[in-house]
Amino acid sequence: MAQLALQGGPKTWTGTWPTWPVWDDLERRALSDVLESGQWWYGERVRAFEAAFATFQDAQHGITATSGTTALEAALLTLGIGAGDEVIVPPYTFLATASAVLRVNAIPVFADIEPRTLCIDPDDVARRITPRTRAIIPVHLGGYVADMDRLHALAHTHALAILEDACHSWGSAWSGKGTGALGTCGVFSFQASKNISSAEGGIVLTDDAGFAERCRSFTNCGRIKDKPWYEHHLLGSNLRMTEFQAALLSAQLTRLPAQTARRACNAALLDAGLRDLPGITIMQPEPRMTRRGYHFYPFRLDCAGLRVSKEQFISALRAEGVPSSIGYDRPLYRNPLFTERAQPGPAGCPLACPYYGGVPDYTAVHCPVCEAVVRDTVWLFHTLLLADESAMPAIVAAIRKVIDNIAAVRESAANHA
Ligand SMILES: *Cc1c(COP(=O)(O)O)cnc(C)c1O
Repeated sequence: MAQLALQGGPKTWTGTWPTWPVWDDLERRALSDVLESGQWWYGERVRAFEAAFATFQDAQHGITATSGTTALEAALLTLGIGAGDEVIVPPYTFLATASAVLRVNAIPVFADIEPRTLCIDPDDVARRITPRTRAIIPVHLGGYVADMDRLHALAHTHALAILEDACHSWGSAWSGKGTGALGTCGVFSFQASKNISSAEGGIVLTDDAGFAERCRSFTNCGRIKDKPWYEHHLLGSNLRMTEFQAALLSAQLTRLPAQTARRACNAALLDAGLRDLPGITIMQPEPRMTRRGYHFYPFRLDCAGLRVSKEQFISALRAEGVPSSIGYDRPLYRNPLFTERAQPGPAGCPLACPYYGGVPDYTAVHCPVCEAVVRDTVWLFHTLLLADESAMPAIVAAIRKVIDNIAAVRESAANHA
């Protein structure tokens, strides 16, 4: 049995991994064209990208924004969500899923995730619905689509909106329709780490023309189409992206289908190699998920059975030449934003909103599945899935080697303690 690289043995993989972002003359020319045109500001390139991206995800309308975070805020404002309202969100996600709710003065209510999908659990959503609930924000985690059939059924019964946080799921589809186009509206991010990027940026998608018009207004200082420029109707903000960003994104979008296909092929190779490995649990196929984009490839470790922490496992894997990430390291509700501000006091709106009539105590929130998942789930980033397929057996071999040598991982951790 080969010695772990962690203990001076040979590395499993000595090659390099793809870097991110991917770009070449296409992006260079796109940016240079905008520069030379002198038309830098919010014009035809933004409109062209909005139409192209909406079409790519099977939606009727796209409204760009400065980030995924501000796009979520604009979507919530457009849904009319505000003081006194509750919105149900998962705790295994990036902050913006919940902070956007607070930013519009509403209250995020956490529902646990499903072990099968790592996405929001419709049964737990059902338990958290109150007369104040106005919307559900499912996150399609890592590109795995939340159970939209059951969420739609709940939304229908209780007259709730569904705002998809699709910030991990470019290219994913459910029963043949793209994510972001499955709910009332959906949001994507184009921040630097995301699968298409303009450094920062976001978009709201919807099939509802009226929603699209109001959302546009919120992102453009409350202006309304065909009205005077200095006439403002809604309390919006300036969330406009530039022509430079749109030109970059249009170039990036031409790469997305091939990249999505490559990631899916490589993920299938990882699935085949890891499926029967003791101590590892991979995600299961879901027939209704007709396409899966990968922002990362998650797998769960049997930390109790292996008697290591995921941090120890990740260090050993990194030494073998395979970078991986701990991912979200806590449920969102364990952030000081929630645990400290939620204390009664002079905090004011939104957490002590007079329209809400109480202060939510996030220290009492307990989502057991999420709490286990933050302890034992490892992410392989989407850039690894862009490598040549010949690199996938090395990832499997490195994981297998660490598992086979788990006693040495434990020993090494004890020596460094
Ligand atoms: C990245 C991300 C966002 C926010 O996007 P930004 O563009 O970084 O503001 C929201 N939700 C999830 C799940 C994300 O990963």
